[in-house]
Amino acid sequence: MMRAIIKTAAEAGALEMRDIPAPQIGAGDVLVRIKKTAICGTDIHIYKWDDWAARTIRTPMVLGHEFVGEIAAIGDNVRGLAVGQLVSGEGHIVCGICRHCITGAQHLCRQTRGIGVNIDGVFAEYAAVPATNIWVCDPAIPDDILAMLDPLGNAVHTALAFNVLGEDVLITGAGPIGIMAVPIVKRAGARNVVITDINPARLAMAKAAGADAAIDVRTESISDIFVKLGIVEGFDIGLEMSGAPQAFSDMVDNMANGGKIAVLGIFGKPPQIDWNKVIFNSLTLMGIYGRRMYDTWYKMSALLKTGLASDVYPIITHTLPADNFQKGFDLMASGEACKVVLDWS
Ligand code: NAD
Ligand code: ZN
Repeated sequence: MMRAIIKTAAEAGALEMRDIPAPQIGAGDVLVRIKKTAICGTDIHIYKWDDWAARTIRTPMVLGHEFVGEIAAIGDNVRGLAVGQLVSGEGHIVCGICRHCITGAQHLCRQTRGIGVNIDGVFAEYAAVPATNIWVCDPAIPDDILAMLDPLGNAVHTALAFNVLGEDVLITGAGPIGIMAVPIVKRAGARNVVITDINPARLAMAKAAGADAAIDVRTESISDIFVKLGIVEGFDIGLEMSGAPQAFSDMVDNMANGGKIAVLGIFGKPPQIDWNKVIFNSLTLMGIYGRRMYDTWYKMSALLKTGLASDVYPIITHTLPADNFQKGFDLMASGEACKVVLDWS
């Protein structure tokens, strides 16, 4: 038996720590003894039971997809992994046999299933994970950071979608992912990095993470910063990381001709943008889902080793014992916390 955080019913709230049987592993799986997990915005959607959650989630289900732990057992067909290794893992399980999967573009698989979304998750003492989803971790990196490689991977994948060397970059949304994207684009050679939000505490964190300007769009407009930073035409690269329709239309309005936008944020309502600006200004839009398997993971690991770990550490505002999960969800849901880590040890 093991403790696990269960979404018990199809309604808002309804989270309980329950004792359930530990998972069985199949021939291609790894059993992970969970050390730490992190709460994601997706978990908050499930907690609050919004329209997306109501359409997607079956209950009862074990929540969670951001984790670090130790291999406790390996299935018969698993090679290259060993009991005791420190591991995290990719939260998207792909089919492995479609056109995209066999040509090395697993992030485009149409059969993707999400851990803690479509199948039982990792907010538990043990989790069964396909060996092909396991990522072996460097024990020199703090556990708290290894628990959030999934969203850090979103930030890396989006930030590196276009070449930012020497470019002016606009990031809309200073949530955990937007803040983590700041030092990544700086390390990739961006000239100016400007970030927007409506939460002053988060903007301050983004500034501390290296943003050249952090704009509260409730009181300032984005173009006010152009003169100060020597931006003439607008931004070369945009990273939409808010999911706010207004932020996306503001971004389109502030791009230079030929600008490129990577869109990660998930919109609750369809954004209204001026499509003639996309056309006449020759903008490029690219949707981003998940992480590249496993190119993003390699790049992220290299960046962590060369200083990114200390750049992103401050976004972890709370580490709580797993039994105190309710407080963690409430802190995240209120926007008071940036990233909350739950400790299962
Ligand atoms: P988050 O919700 O914590 O952050 C979003 C931020 O946007 C918040 O700080 C909010 O205050 C800010 N915001 C709200 N309105 C704004 C506006 N008008 N202008 C600028 N900022 C505004 O989310 P997160 O965990 O950092 O994730 C970022 C986004 O990416 C979310 O929409 C999330 O659902 C999405 N996401 C997508 C994928 C994917 O694979 N595509 C994966 C993970 C997360
Ligand atoms: Zn596939």
